[in-house]
Amino acid sequence: MKAEPIQGAVPRLKIANQTLNFDDMTSEAQDPTTVIPNIPKNDKKRIVIIGAGFAGLKLARKLSVTDYQVVLLDKNNYHIFQPLLYQVATAALPPNAVSFPLRRLFHSSSNVLFRMAIVKKINKREKRIYTNLGTLEYDILVLAQGANTNYFGNENIHRYAAPMKTTSEALYIRNKIISNYERAVNIADEKERKPIMNVVIVGGGATGVELAGSIAELRNTVFPKDYPQLSFQNMRVILIEAGNTLLSGLSEKSREKALEYLQRLGVEVMLNTMVEDYDGFTVKLKEKPSIETITLLWAAGVKANLMPGIDADQIAPNGRMLVDEYNRLIGEDYIYVIGDQCLLKEGKFPNGHPQVAQVAIQQADNLARNLKSDLKAKPWSAFRYKDLGSMATVGKKMAVADLPFIRFRGFFAWFVWLFVHLMAILGVKNKLQIFINWAWKYLAFDPSLRLLIRPRYVKPSKREWLIEDRDYEL
Ligand SMILES: Cc1cc2nc3c(=O)[nH]c(=O)nc-3n(C[C@H](O)[C@H](O)[C@H](O)COP(=O)(O)OP(=O)(O)OC[C@H]3O[C@@H](n4cnc5c(N)ncnc54)[C@H](O)[C@@H]3O)c2cc1C
Repeated sequence: MKAEPIQGAVPRLKIANQTLNFDDMTSEAQDPTTVIPNIPKNDKKRIVIIGAGFAGLKLARKLSVTDYQVVLLDKNNYHIFQPLLYQVATAALPPNAVSFPLRRLFHSSSNVLFRMAIVKKINKREKRIYTNLGTLEYDILVLAQGANTNYFGNENIHRYAAPMKTTSEALYIRNKIISNYERAVNIADEKERKPIMNVVIVGGGATGVELAGSIAELRNTVFPKDYPQLSFQNMRVILIEAGNTLLSGLSEKSREKALEYLQRLGVEVMLNTMVEDYDGFTVKLKEKPSIETITLLWAAGVKANLMPGIDADQIAPNGRMLVDEYNRLIGEDYIYVIGDQCLLKEGKFPNGHPQVAQVAIQQADNLARNLKSDLKAKPWSAFRYKDLGSMATVGKKMAVADLPFIRFRGFFAWFVWLFVHLMAILGVKNKLQIFINWAWKYLAFDPSLRLLIRPRYVKPSKREWLIEDRDYEL
């Protein structure tokens, strides 16, 4: 390995036959001969999986110890359990409790190789993908890249609001909220403090409801003790939803109960309200007075991640990739799409399935079964979604659950929610860590993670490896 002369301020490293430009995240300029090294070509069929979220990771695990060579690629070297990200954002859980190191999962599966790589485009004709590390050929390609935050084309909201799709984004929100009060406590004028103290959340789905409930709980119980000089009656927690209800996928009773719980916690819920613009200080609403806040949390929707190289007629108008009942990308023989990124029309779901973890997991399971059937020359089975129900928690002892045969609310729903999430999280250590944090929070109501650990300035030459760039795909 040798450092080449620095061109301008951007250092380039020569490793084997590749020149890595650490500043250029959008570069596609790889010659197909710069293959990702140390991935041997053997007589096994190579399945390349892009994305180690719920769908991709499940598939890779199901295909471990089979006669396939599986190459799993993800831009992070850990799996993110997104349903609990809001607890990282509100200082209830540490980031490592909801993030699981991918390499550890494959210690005893010699046929699965992992690379931390950003996949940038596909060449379907050559059966090759292009990444920031080099290129890679596949026999079978599985896209499982999930979805990203949808700002519905509003550039200002994109620029100034805080999304929550990744562990880094959740940590950013935690830092942002804590830094607000560290700042506010030094401001003498109450009027000047208000926009720093208010938090506005947009999106009345489970994420928005859970975030609003948790922030209101911090405001009601923790912050007044941490910052006794501040009056938290002046801190507004506002949840904005464009539609006429919260948690639109749940039963009417559960929706009403969730609204009641939020109001009990002091959250101002604004239904039928459209956010028109945000300049980092004022949230402009359609036909309603504006709200001043420097903290706008955006949980209003997702859009499927795109992949250059996929034809326009293989993508639905909402950006999801069109697949048949085997999750095969329409018009292709060797490309499959699973999870949030795909749109599979099935009897009860003519517009595709909801973009939730259960769909991603069940599609991965079905595809794994089919790919294993291929090895035994057995027929494939079509995907059928089994809806296991929905739950949302608003705060301590306040949750709603609509399961296939039973609906319940309150303490029991909260307890079931805790249990289901604890069981779903990967790794015994993570389960234990979460259990201890929850028990501590329940007994003391004092999450001990209110640390403001700010990332240190990172030199441009180190950025590709040390900073998550949320918008590299734009
Ligand atoms: C805050 C939040 C809360 C949620 N709560 C719930 C809930 O309570 N219940 C529920 O069922 N669902 C919930 N969801 C939705 C659920 O998390 C998704 O439906 C699920 O993660 C979809 O799985 P996936 O595998 O399709 O995508 P993901 O889990 O998003 O995984 C995609 C993976 O692809 C990787 N990737 C993307 N692009 C590239 C690239 N170019 N190169 C390399 N890697 C790439 C990403 O790093 C990621 O690891 C929530 C989502 C969020 C954001």
